[in-house]
Amino acid sequence: MTETTRIALVTGANKGIGLEIARQLAQAGVFVIIGARDPGRASAAVAELSSAGLGARSIPVDLDDHASVAAAAETIRVDHGRLDILVNNAGIVDAKDGPPTASAPEAARRIMDTNFIGTLAVTQAMLPLLRRAPAARIVNLSSSLGSLTLNGDPASPYYSARLIGYNASKAALNMLTVQLAEELRDTPIVVNSVSPGYVKTDLTGHNGFLTVEEGAKLPVEYALLGDDAVSGRFVEASGETPW
Ligand code: NAP
Repeated sequence: MTETTRIALVTGANKGIGLEIARQLAQAGVFVIIGARDPGRASAAVAELSSAGLGARSIPVDLDDHASVAAAAETIRVDHGRLDILVNNAGIVDAKDGPPTASAPEAARRIMDTNFIGTLAVTQAMLPLLRRAPAARIVNLSSSLGSLTLNGDPASPYYSARLIGYNASKAALNMLTVQLAEELRDTPIVVNSVSPGYVKTDLTGHNGFLTVEEGAKLPVEYALLGDDAVSGRFVEASGETPW
């Protein structure tokens, strides 16, 4: 790793889209920090990337344990001094989530805690390190299910996917994207919400139209945006997603 090698933290990078984002970023020459809550799964992910000659390490990050988030920021500060890319990928669904008339409120709370509050905590903890990079990029892994417009559009394929906890968590994440982009407007830091598409992972029970390789492409593209980068957008492979 040289002084100019970009450094990325990808949360929830031990499997699924997160691991593939880590792989594709490392293939682009970025040194990748696998943020994962389980040390065994984190080590396995690092071993997988390292065996392919890719630069990676792991640091414990549990979005539900904000002390682990603060400790991760401190480790990155001491070992790397800055952060060029933050990919807020970690996220959950919950079997007890469902439509507003049936979802267990506790399930909605669990999802909101991880997908929104946890991501907010990670972003705040990493911001001082992102400010030290010349042009940092934040990518929030959102979903078309977080679009208020599509949830209310009977013609949308997402209209009938009523998961009040999950969909609300991604709408809240989108609010973070909008507000943070505005707060950081006068800085070189760029923040966007990116929807990976419907991807075959544990989260979807391996249903979906896309492989993880395909689903990671757009988040990686937004993590590597150049000088003329847009900020505060909500995008999917086909273009902009309505909020
Ligand atoms: P996945 O295969 O289930 O992976 C989720 C990752 O998040 C795992 O590494 C998991 O770690 C981690 N994670 C969960 N809770 C965490 C916590 N509290 N702290 C730290 N890490 C945590 O899911 P995926 O499909 O790759 O999803 C990745 C992201 O894309 C999520 O934000 C999801 O909402 C979003 N997304 C996915 C799809 C899709 O079709 N798959 C579509 C739109 C958006 P463990 O292994 O420890 O559980």
